[in-house]
Amino acid sequence: MNYYSLNNKNHHVSYQEAVIQGLAPDRGLYFPSSITPLPQSFFDGIESLSNEEIAFQVIQQFVGNEIPEAELKQIITETLCFDFPCVPVEENVYSLELYHGPTMAFKDVGARFMSRCLAYFNKDKNQKNTVLVATSGDTGGAVASGFLGVKGVQVVILYPSGKVSDIQERQLTTLGQNITALEVDGVFDDCQDMVKKAFLDETLVHKNLTSANSINIARWLPQMFYFFFAYKQLKKRNKTLIVSCPSGNFGNICAGILAKKLGLPIAHFVAATNVNDTVPQFLKNGKYEPKPSIATISNAMDVGNPSNFVRIQEMYNNDLNEFKKDFSSYTFTDEETKFALQNIYANTGYIAEPHGAVGYLGLKKELQNQPNSVGVFLETAHPIKFSDTVEPILNIKLSIPSQIESVLGKDKMRIKIKSYEELKNYLKN
Ligand SMILES: *Cc1c(COP(=O)(O)O)cnc(C)c1O
Repeated sequence: MNYYSLNNKNHHVSYQEAVIQGLAPDRGLYFPSSITPLPQSFFDGIESLSNEEIAFQVIQQFVGNEIPEAELKQIITETLCFDFPCVPVEENVYSLELYHGPTMAFKDVGARFMSRCLAYFNKDKNQKNTVLVATSGDTGGAVASGFLGVKGVQVVILYPSGKVSDIQERQLTTLGQNITALEVDGVFDDCQDMVKKAFLDETLVHKNLTSANSINIARWLPQMFYFFFAYKQLKKRNKTLIVSCPSGNFGNICAGILAKKLGLPIAHFVAATNVNDTVPQFLKNGKYEPKPSIATISNAMDVGNPSNFVRIQEMYNNDLNEFKKDFSSYTFTDEETKFALQNIYANTGYIAEPHGAVGYLGLKKELQNQPNSVGVFLETAHPIKFSDTVEPILNIKLSIPSQIESVLGKDKMRIKIKSYEELKNYLKN
């Protein structure tokens, strides 16, 4: 399977090269050269397929013959070691819970899939890759857990000092082995800038740096699975399907749109955002204007320049009229999000968290336009990951799931850094 750079359609690479490089040399994101819809028989019989069988059929064309069938199936089995329930919340409103994995964040799926692909590509080589990632919270834990013990891969995670929750910090600092956490004296943007600098630094070329953010196709593509799992569970409702994704870097929703290109019958997508409204503005006036990010209670979506949006533009031929056929984007304030959390809990007993609540709000808004549909919002993290916000808003105490309990007693290990020079010295040694 070939991928091209969105900055240069003549630059083609294999799946393996795209995974190992992360970004194209011209800094473009990689995009699949061909997208072949799945046969109707696949959708007709989807209820009788296991999640693993569905995932294999969905991802196979994007990997091609670069990973043999047996190994690819093994990678999928290890990736999907937990459930993806579609939980009824209100009439015709479902929460697709993506948080039952090891770190209780949806990013577990992409991180587990990518790490195992890299391990496969490294298996007969002495080559080492260094995965470098900046995190504002959830990515770091999912990447640390997903890559733990993977042969030939060193993982270096940068996080802003004092800006991630205690649980999140423990998830990325307590594992050891091939995982190193660097605590940066600064904010998330400083971490991100250091990572970008390292990728451009010629003196680090021999370190084979790659990214584990959703710009990497091996983290982005497996997110298509969720949309097929939702359809499998809701097909029997026999209604048109709307999916609302709480969006930050727009990787998740971009995977959903690709799933639709494979023939998945999703009638409408909603990209729900917090006040970081670059995309809702684009839908309004056709201008894409990145802005500095604004801090909110759904902080994993505090993104002013969503990195995957160029892929979405590619799929809609960058034509606003094509977008408007099946794509809406709505923005919500923290006040609205808090109110939604309280309303959902008071009316249904369901405990959401701020990101899911933004998704819920987007879905409700679109259902007003399309009342005969059934809707799903993605719940992207377990409420415990945002307990500092959820507990006071709902006035409850959350119980601690076993996945989280297991990291609470462990010691944090991290190296404090202040500058890019310190990062570079660390990577060189
Ligand atoms: C990363 C993240 C998101 C945003 O996902 P994108 O694919 O970047 O749009 C939403 N919610 C949570 C909890 C996240 O960690």
